[in-house]
Amino acid sequence: MSYAIDNNLCVSCWGCIQICPSGAIVQDSRSAVIIPEHCTDCAECELACPRGAIYHTDNSIIDEDISAFIKDNTPQERLHFDIVILGGGPAGLSAGYYASKAGFSVAILERRERFGYPVACAEGISTIGLNRVIHPQPNWISSTIQKIKLFAPGGKMILVNHPEAGYILDRPAMETGLAEILANQGVKIFGQTTVRKICGENLVSSVLAQKNTNIIELTGKYFIGADGVGGISTRWAYPGISLKMGDYHSCAQVLLKSDEITDEPITEFWWGKNVAPGGYAWVFPKGGNRANVGLGIIPSMAEDGNAKHYLDKFLHNRLNDFSVIQRRDGIVPATFRLSPLGKANLLLVGDSARLPNAISGGGLDCALLSGKLAAESIAKFFYSNNEKILREYETNWKSATGKWLDIYAKLRKGVINLTDDELDKIAELLEKKLANKTWYGLDIPAVVWEIVKSSPKLLTIAGKFFINYL
Ligand SMILES: Cc1cc2nc3c(=O)[nH]c(=O)nc-3n(C[C@H](O)[C@H](O)[C@H](O)COP(=O)(O)OP(=O)(O)OC[C@H]3O[C@@H](n4cnc5c(N)ncnc54)[C@H](O)[C@@H]3O)c2cc1C
Ligand code: SF4
Ligand code: SF4
Repeated sequence: MSYAIDNNLCVSCWGCIQICPSGAIVQDSRSAVIIPEHCTDCAECELACPRGAIYHTDNSIIDEDISAFIKDNTPQERLHFDIVILGGGPAGLSAGYYASKAGFSVAILERRERFGYPVACAEGISTIGLNRVIHPQPNWISSTIQKIKLFAPGGKMILVNHPEAGYILDRPAMETGLAEILANQGVKIFGQTTVRKICGENLVSSVLAQKNTNIIELTGKYFIGADGVGGISTRWAYPGISLKMGDYHSCAQVLLKSDEITDEPITEFWWGKNVAPGGYAWVFPKGGNRANVGLGIIPSMAEDGNAKHYLDKFLHNRLNDFSVIQRRDGIVPATFRLSPLGKANLLLVGDSARLPNAISGGGLDCALLSGKLAAESIAKFFYSNNEKILREYETNWKSATGKWLDIYAKLRKGVINLTDDELDKIAELLEKKLANKTWYGLDIPAVVWEIVKSSPKLLTIAGKFFINYL
């Protein structure tokens, strides 16, 4: 699978070459060209191209088959489930787990060959973020997070002792393990099956999916859109609304091995305009001298090049010697979530609802939790109506975590524009508040509030937000 460029539409603006975090796009005499072996399928160029010239090769071949299928009305297979889930990432698997536990017949459609792979994630999650949704099995965890090092632009390093902070997951192991649990609970899992079309305008009647050369139709009472950023579910529920440059973090990341990466359970965060404009860099140990090392930037704020360029610079400053095992690039939505969280009988979960924390980019806990809440809302009002389900889901999301994420989304504009001097001051504050103590159950909103209070820029934004919110 890869992206490609239609050279009849390309106007050679070279915008995609600037933003591709993998350096996978090059200039040809007529147009930009994607080198499939370097493309990590992150979809960033598709979102950015002003001409709509970039498409997923998977999506191009099938339109005629779908049309023929609809015309003939002779499905090769037609199946019915209470709940049909589009996408088998953390959000979809969590939804499937809770929906099947509640006794419903459930199908999950996942286009990948292997659950959780390829990885486009640093795999870090807080202890509470994982445990409140699912009890992890030992092989799902590559490493624990017990200490956090923050590196401020001016050179200060702050060490926070937080013995139960979280985990660095092994996402392929976790998602494959979850899929197995779900299959044992009776969920019908369709692997290597791509959803091609959502049928129905105001209400989803069915989805058409392709497995190898077969087209199958799945009908259901409720549908859960868990197909990630820019997926088909979001496009159905919110036609014409796309992520704009500046609404997401462009992330370049590698899984690497180096003798300089110890297996101590310490994660590193690096701030600063020269390191990662509008974002930060991270080093998350994975055990066996391996680590996910990456960074997220706001492309429009980056003066020196794309995310890959900044990562190359960071890697060579941080490590003397390393071997790259795998590229793990991608994008994270960093804007207000979609509201309402779905339309009619389709509920959006995880990245497809743009739920990640707009400041940290963390989206795994949001994906897992939203899957659970969506499934529970459907279970509660299955025999009632769509409005009640959407309202229940929205209310529970807000009270569980959503109201804080709304605040972070509002603060993001101020945070990404903090100067290096302001970041250094925040680092000093954090040192006073957090260093030289051991923390259990660190209250993150309280820490964020301390930071907001210390910065006139952030305090003004927060003040305006609360006036509108209350
Ligand atoms: C570089 C990077 C680092 C990150 N690091 C972290 C981190 O350390 N911690 C954290 O909390 N978050 C992190 N995130 C964010 C996190 O990875 C996402 O928020 C999370 O994966 C969202 O889960 P999801 O299930 O909503 O979507 P996804 O994980 O994207 O899953 C969507 C699934 O749907 C499938 N799919 C898509 N379209 C179709 C279709 N048409 N038919 C069938 N299946 C389909 C896909 O194959 C995929 O398996 C990171 C993101 C990036 C890019
Ligand atoms: S962004 Fe679109 S139009 Fe511009 S070079 Fe890339 S493919 Fe061509
Ligand atoms: S890596 Fe991402 S931005 Fe680069 S070509 Fe592939 S899909 Fe496009």
